[in-house]
Amino acid sequence: MIYADIETAPHATAAPGGVGTCPACTAKVIAKCGPIVSWHWAHARGEDCDPWSEPMSAWHLSWQAHAPDERREVILGQHRADVVAPDGSVVEVQRSTIAADEIREREAFYAFFGSMTWIFDARGAYEDLRLDVRRPRNPRTPDYVTFRWKHPRKSIAACTARVLLDIGTGELLRVGRIYPDAPCGGWGHLIPVSTVARWISGTDCERRPA
Ligand SMILES: [Zn+2]
Repeated sequence: MIYADIETAPHATAAPGGVGTCPACTAKVIAKCGPIVSWHWAHARGEDCDPWSEPMSAWHLSWQAHAPDERREVILGQHRADVVAPDGSVVEVQRSTIAADEIREREAFYAFFGSMTWIFDARGAYEDLRLDVRRPRNPRTPDYVTFRWKHPRKSIAACTARVLLDIGTGELLRVGRIYPDAPCGGWGHLIPVSTVARWISGTDCERRPA
């Protein structure tokens, strides 16, 4: 996690040798400041108190970085929401595999705070050409796309909240519909990363894009 409470300050970022407490469960956390993984805090006893947390990654952090401090890693109940948008809704940034059951659980929990958004890492699939995004280039619907997805992240079909796939081109595929059975495919719209980043940061109007 990004923040812990330390003796001198609440909501502190990790620094070498740092020891603090988890703001959610008050257990001891230690700073992990290696050369490869971004600096972060980890529970000293190993197990994270939030079963929904995923390992730190530069990609995950880069999405959280669009939000100001106070809206990143926000403790809601016994969970830490990755980002809370200006409208109070939760944005979950997900790189690791996630089971359909956990998707449903998280959506049910975060629905309490507003309409939720998922951002999934689909850069690898797009790069490997497993996720084939076809752009019909109809001038009337310039952002409309269809896609085929070989070896898809099938559990995404369980999402009822808004799904954005980060395909790594500076665009997100906002999934309109996904058909998980082979051959998996669907349709959606492309949204520039900058549009979503502005929404998360709150520098734009507070209205959720698309
Ligand atoms: Zn904890």
